[in-house]
Amino acid sequence: MNSVKKYRVRLISLMLVFCMAFVSGCRGKNDTEPSADLSAIVETDSAEYTYEEMEADLYELEERYGEFIQVSYEGKSHDGRNIYYADIGSSDAEVQIMVNAGIHGREYMTPMYLMAEIEYFLSEAVSDEKLGAKLNDIMIRVVPMINPDGIAMSQGGLDAIRSEDLKQTILDAYEYDRKLESYQSYKDIDTYLKYWKANARGVDLNRNFDIDYWSELDTERGRPSAQKFKGYLPNSENETKSLISLTDELDGLACAVSIHSQGEIIYWDCGQKGEIRAKTVELAVLANKMNGYPLHTSFTAPDASYNDWCVLELGIPSINIETGTDSCPLPIEQFETIWDQNKELLSALVTKYSE
Ligand SMILES: [Zn+2]
Repeated sequence: MNSVKKYRVRLISLMLVFCMAFVSGCRGKNDTEPSADLSAIVETDSAEYTYEEMEADLYELEERYGEFIQVSYEGKSHDGRNIYYADIGSSDAEVQIMVNAGIHGREYMTPMYLMAEIEYFLSEAVSDEKLGAKLNDIMIRVVPMINPDGIAMSQGGLDAIRSEDLKQTILDAYEYDRKLESYQSYKDIDTYLKYWKANARGVDLNRNFDIDYWSELDTERGRPSAQKFKGYLPNSENETKSLISLTDELDGLACAVSIHSQGEIIYWDCGQKGEIRAKTVELAVLANKMNGYPLHTSFTAPDASYNDWCVLELGIPSINIETGTDSCPLPIEQFETIWDQNKELLSALVTKYSE
């Protein structure tokens, strides 16, 4: 940033701080009420945070905090929804951080958390000059909803899918899954789709990443299903490809964090050895200090997840934070605790990796 731009950032920052002083109930540092904020863009009072809300909120955030955030999308889901991302900080920064959420359909509280987190972090960056200055040297790339079709289905059922071919794939998956023992309790397709994790082609995106182990991965599903089907080929899905290119573009990627639900635990071990193992533990410990979740300790084999791919193929420390304690989709009552535990995520990451 040149000095004129820096001056403008400071001036706009001061104006925003001034305005915010007049608005009561801002989502400020000491405020643990996520929903009572009249000035908040991201509303967190209803569990069903939709793709359309996220899309509108991203552009509103860009309008309010344009000096710090740029919104765009990389590719589309199989049912034609954009895979949105937001770059926070300087695009010239030599260090980048990746944070993403919403790779599993029924875990749609994670995009809501991450969107609220973007807003909270930006308001902090505006009012905290030191934090704001760090954004000259580091960029956070946030992908809040990797699987918009799966989320739309878990929230809205089969009608949320527009493509007739995809609808047929989903109906076929239902006929296949309902014969499995674990699905015997799903009385109808509406209940079944509420718990859907995969994308609209019945592929579990977090089993679809191209690691060496992918061909050996046995997920007990040989065809499209609500969960666990790894796809016919690695990296076969549009959503997987989008997340890969959004990650590959970052030359100075320092770490990658994925938000899932549920279990209040941090997954970090994918069998990595040496320096990358130590770096991943450091990242996991940073998250543990913030949210208090224990580190997972009983690794058996990789899953061909995004985090496995980052660690094993790129050599980048990457963790998976499992938020919430109830079964998914999480009820709204879980949000406040998740928020209190995890709202300092972006500032903690920026502080650590801009050292
Ligand atoms: Zn998940």
